Amino acid sequence: MALIDNLVQALQVLPGVGPKSAQRMALTLLQRNRSGGTALGNVLLQAMESVKRCAVCQNLTESDVCRVCSDTRRDATMLCVVESPADVLAIEQAGGYRGFYFVLHGRLSPIDGVGPEQLGLDRLQSRIAEIAPQEIILATNPTVEGEATAHYISRMVSGAVNKISRIAHGVPLGGEIEYTDGGTLTHALQGRRDVSFLD
Ligand SMILES: [Zn+2]
Repeated sequence: MALIDNLVQALQVLPGVGPKSAQRMALTLLQRNRSGGTALGNVLLQAMESVKRCAVCQNLTESDVCRVCSDTRRDATMLCVVESPADVLAIEQAGGYRGFYFVLHGRLSPIDGVGPEQLGLDRLQSRIAEIAPQEIILATNPTVEGEATAHYISRMVSGAVNKISRIAHGVPLGGEIEYTDGGTLTHALQGRRDVSFLD
């Protein structure tokens, strides 16, 4: 039974999967879908070994530079800062935005030991120096920490960019960009407002 137990245990790393669902998944694969299980195992291993962070924007990719960053048709006048790769997917799927991204993989949270260094803000600064965008869109989530992060970045880049904007309402307060529907997200991006955090 050891291998089956190990499999049931391992499946519980998936979000929302507890012992019961893990057991059902394991048995389904073993009883009815060996080839699907094998394919899952192989692609999982490959992804874990090969997916890394884009050297430019920190989004997840299997190449050194991701597809968005290497796309010369993107609009280099805009750079959108988001918390997670899921936010990039949500904005891309909503359509309408053609600029570049920078993915923080989190938000400033001193209590959890997440500071500017952990978010790669030095890399963000070099990226801004490199493409000299006209506008930085701060699309961190409208949570307390997301706002604090946007505030910090706006101060950090204020000398380097003409326009700093914050994603507009529409993303519900305390809500997450990832779970905002495409139409709402498009409006939130279009209705972004200038930031004047500077005191
Ligand atoms: Zn990239």
